[in-house]
Amino acid sequence: MRLILLGAPGTGKGTQGNLLALKLNVPKISTGDILRQAIEKKTSLGIQAQKYMQKGDLVPDEIIIGIVKERLEESDCKNGFILDGFPRTVPQAIALDTYIESKDQKIDAVIALEVERDKLVKRLTSRRVCKNCGNDYNIITNPPPEDMKCTKCGGEIIQRADDNEEIVVNRLQVYEEKTFPLKEYYTMKGNLKIFDGDGTIEDIQRNIQEYLAIE
Ligand code: AMP
Repeated sequence: MRLILLGAPGTGKGTQGNLLALKLNVPKISTGDILRQAIEKKTSLGIQAQKYMQKGDLVPDEIIIGIVKERLEESDCKNGFILDGFPRTVPQAIALDTYIESKDQKIDAVIALEVERDKLVKRLTSRRVCKNCGNDYNIITNPPPEDMKCTKCGGEIIQRADDNEEIVVNRLQVYEEKTFPLKEYYTMKGNLKIFDGDGTIEDIQRNIQEYLAIE
């Protein structure tokens, strides 16, 4: 199955994507994770991307489209994939369509998660993540242990540099301007399904799995 997860930052794409990836046994590809790893390793991609990411702006389309195409060529994507955080602009969506069609494949569904803006600001500014495995915590609803070591892998739990309020506000603005139009794009294509992202992780996952008719 080939899926796209669409939604503003903080709507739960990563969390739902991880659960779906486990269930479907396909990789979840997060462009944000790929870029953060590149920054950590100080590669030339990381150095280029950092100046956009630290402001909450989007990395240019040419860069990100190249990264995704390269990733989709890897053998673990043969039987499907879940895209988390890509596409984020109409040109990215068009490039993805062109690529997928060139492989005689299709996107099975675009899953859009929706949460009110005020709740997103709160979710993102109180989010903490494991630097190693990406496991999510929230200082209000799911607090990390006092020693800030991940309960899954023992990695260091941190606040993402772009999860501070000023940058969060810009990320949400960028989403409205650049990514929101993708809802219309995929509605026209007929494969967009909107889910309320304001519920328990389990309920939302169940709704998505029911829609996708996953056994
Ligand atoms: P995320 O982890 O998905 O919230 O992404 C973190 C940051 O990475 C974003 O704020 C952008 O700066 C950058 N980024 C991730 N995915 C994309 C994309 N598809 N296009 C452009 N920039 C991206």
